[in-house]
Amino acid sequence: MQFGRLGLRPELVRAVIDAGYSTPTPVQERAIPLALDGRDLIGCAQTGTGKTAAFLLPTLHRLAAGRPSRHPRGLVVTPTRELAAQVGGMAAAYGANLRLRSAVIFGGVGMEPQTRSLRSGLDLVIATPGRLLDHLGRKQVHLGEIEVVVFDEADRMLDMGFLPDVRRVIGALPAKRQNLFFSATMPDEIEDLIRRTTNNPTLVEVTRRASPVSAIEQVVYLVSMTRKKELLASLLKQPDFGQTLVFTRTKARANQLVRYLEHSGRRVIAIHGNKSQNARTRALNGFRRGRIDTLIATDIAARGIDVDGISHVVNFDLPNVPEDYVHRIGRTARAGASGSAVSLAAPEERPQLAAIERLVGKVVPRGTVTGFPVVA
Ligand code: AMP
Repeated sequence: MQFGRLGLRPELVRAVIDAGYSTPTPVQERAIPLALDGRDLIGCAQTGTGKTAAFLLPTLHRLAAGRPSRHPRGLVVTPTRELAAQVGGMAAAYGANLRLRSAVIFGGVGMEPQTRSLRSGLDLVIATPGRLLDHLGRKQVHLGEIEVVVFDEADRMLDMGFLPDVRRVIGALPAKRQNLFFSATMPDEIEDLIRRTTNNPTLVEVTRRASPVSAIEQVVYLVSMTRKKELLASLLKQPDFGQTLVFTRTKARANQLVRYLEHSGRRVIAIHGNKSQNARTRALNGFRRGRIDTLIATDIAARGIDVDGISHVVNFDLPNVPEDYVHRIGRTARAGASGSAVSLAAPEERPQLAAIERLVGKVVPRGTVTGFPVVA
């Protein structure tokens, strides 16, 4: 299958080829023609499947085909600033050959430049819900002409407590519009929201079998809670640990771990919700460029981190929700590269481990490190 056969405008096909893609991914192949048809869609796909292009390309196509207006006609809502920025970057790249104006609107930075850019007239707005509502409340944006709306990582918006904000955004949209919902998992609340807000949607599901998880080498170390730090430090000395993303359960544990690893020879930084937007962007850029080789994050902060070349994802703490395991480890083994997922499981985390193994449908192999007795 070629991109040229999906029904997209030649300007978009050229941009996609310039971006280095030769063939559409499965979610793109299925979602793009349906979205171009004007259908409402539910895309059940994880990060790394190419879902962003799956909703941006038909959205840009539709906007380019319509008449320009003073008010935005396309809207993408994302749970985090990082994800909004990434989607914004991709919209600019895919839309490079079109005369469309887009901007990213998120919190943690000044309102004024955003207000100016909204006033200047935009075709596409990519926003986090809270800041979008701020602008809406001040009548700095009008959503009454939105033709197509995308909710990206809807399950994450639910986890982060944004559902009321999302409902308010939906309330400001015109009744006649195209809805594209993307979510890696389908919790009841999201299914319910989708049922109420869409019109006869088509479900596009990228099955687990085709998911990147199968490409990731997984191992779990059974260790006591108190020795996790030492075990991690010892693992990080192994030469195959390149760019490493470490997940902790809390911000406090992320900070503790940074302090512990300070003199380990690794260049370590934490990224979490207590840090300013600038600090988060700096940390992420450092990691992307390789100046930082160990990024420690909580689940919420890590949403939307899209960095190629992560060799290892470490679950320093096991996630409480097994789906998060899949979200986390999906950050490695991108684009056909190899990748490993390493989990440290203390005896008190055995129920989480069992839930993860049920979800991924296999027993994760146990590993051992000299000097660290297996704690069962
Ligand atoms: P996403 O699932 O949207 O986060 O995309 C994951 C990664 O896949 C991104 O780095 C994209 O640049 C890349 N990508 C998206 N579509 C394609 C494609 N058709 N071929 C190759 N890479 C792609």
